[in-house]
Amino acid sequence: MAAILSGKGTLGCMEKPYRNLSFWHDSVPGPLRPRPSLSADIETDVAIVGAGYTGLWTAYYLKRANPGLDITLLEAEIAGYGASGRNGGWCSGYLSGIDHWLDDPSQRESAVRLQKLMFDTVREAGEVAEAESIDCHFDQSGALEVAVIPAQLKRLQQEIEHLRALGFGEDDYRWLGPGEVREALRIDKAVAAIHMRHCAAIHPSRLARGLAETLSGQGVRIFEKSPVASVSGNTLETPGGRVRAGTVIVATEGYSGSIAGRKRRLIPVHSMMVVTEPLSQQQIDEIAYHRRLCFGNIDRLVTYGQLTQDNRIAFGCRGSYHFGSGIRIFDPKDPEFKLVAGSLLKFFPSLEGIGFTHGWGGAMGVSRTLRPSVNFDPDRRFGWAGGYFGNGVGAAHLAGKTLADLVTGQETERTATPWVNPADQDRKWEPEPLRWLGIKSRAQLMHLADSAEYSGSPLAPVYSKTLDFLFP
Ligand SMILES: Cc1cc2nc3c(=O)[nH]c(=O)nc-3n(C[C@H](O)[C@H](O)[C@H](O)COP(=O)(O)OP(=O)(O)OC[C@H]3O[C@@H](n4cnc5c(N)ncnc54)[C@H](O)[C@@H]3O)c2cc1C
Repeated sequence: MAAILSGKGTLGCMEKPYRNLSFWHDSVPGPLRPRPSLSADIETDVAIVGAGYTGLWTAYYLKRANPGLDITLLEAEIAGYGASGRNGGWCSGYLSGIDHWLDDPSQRESAVRLQKLMFDTVREAGEVAEAESIDCHFDQSGALEVAVIPAQLKRLQQEIEHLRALGFGEDDYRWLGPGEVREALRIDKAVAAIHMRHCAAIHPSRLARGLAETLSGQGVRIFEKSPVASVSGNTLETPGGRVRAGTVIVATEGYSGSIAGRKRRLIPVHSMMVVTEPLSQQQIDEIAYHRRLCFGNIDRLVTYGQLTQDNRIAFGCRGSYHFGSGIRIFDPKDPEFKLVAGSLLKFFPSLEGIGFTHGWGGAMGVSRTLRPSVNFDPDRRFGWAGGYFGNGVGAAHLAGKTLADLVTGQETERTATPWVNPADQDRKWEPEPLRWLGIKSRAQLMHLADSAEYSGSPLAPVYSKTLDFLFP
């Protein structure tokens, strides 16, 4: 059974077999030994807490903007320990919650600009990886969002109409009918799909570890096994020493509960993944998996898959929130992983009997508004970003680049977008048990709505409307 620990418990644990964290950690080249911890008091221009994509990209673009800056990254475990090292590897142009701004006439124009920046971010992340010789298996074949039943087809049609009304054309999102989907990827029962061009399959841990290596080479100080217990003004406390910084950036996303006072800003919601053994050529041909397309269906409970460079399918779905914002430690023997594997086989029944080599999970950050944000207070010299709600691989790149603009005081097209310093950025989650009850009810309603759609129940629209009403 999976062990469930409190947020502080996991990070406080002294030794971890990092290779066992996920398939990605297991297959990343190079040592996974922690770099030295902070062992003295220091001063620095910019201190960044958390060496996931948000922290790493922020440091990268700060260094690019001002090579003379002294930047220090403080990481509780090792770079890429969190969601950045263990996600589904969709580097996608989709930004969670963007519809909120797109639907608001007063913010639509800037939201469309934000969407276009998200499109660019996918290509840019790949370009940086290439320029810095980070071999993260980047392949921008795009993503397929698939409908397999009439109710899903209807929702998918509404989605493409909405996208077209916003001005996004064939180059961004392409509609595929049943024959075209079959040709692209033989997903069982697929009746239509939207192909989003702005998505790349990557090896997540290679990107995170590669970025950390690049930064070390550029003179950024990275202290690992150095958990920050508190941030007070410009002072950060770690067990081995105190950091005084000109500017502080907190980039701890789903793991933010480890810092005093930040537990109710971003809460950890978990997602689970499995990976198959490498597919044989015959299996690849059977499902026509000839390009490294990312794929998922339009279920409310999200599914996401990709073909790895060595021809495995890495697939995720399911998740959970734990009372008190606990961080879950995943045991690959947990029977829940069988359910995840079973969900993948629904996409590709011909793979029945294939072996699964790894099962793992991780935590992603969810804000009370259910939208991500990039925040910086120039007076306090304090910033943070996150709340990507499971879509943070591309978004953290844009967030990092934007934080670098804000820290260096530049007004750019990025800083003039609606996710920067939104008015509701400080909204906190309710105290328990309300938080747990709200999140569980939403998940249950989503499950009921999906199940009712699959069984053709007349209750499907009722659940759907209830969801929209209670959790707009
Ligand atoms: C299973 C799973 C699948 C996902 N799949 C996708 C996907 O396919 N596409 C996509 O776009 N998104 C996906 N996501 C979400 C995406 O991975 C995250 O949104 C993104 O990686 C967040 O990056 P981050 O740097 O903000 O946070 P993280 O990568 O979580 O990094 C936070 C870091 O902060 C460190 N830390 C925490 N507390 C402290 C402290 N007190 N002191 C010092 N360091 C601390 C942690 O150890 C961690 O390394 C997935 C997430 C999960 C869990």
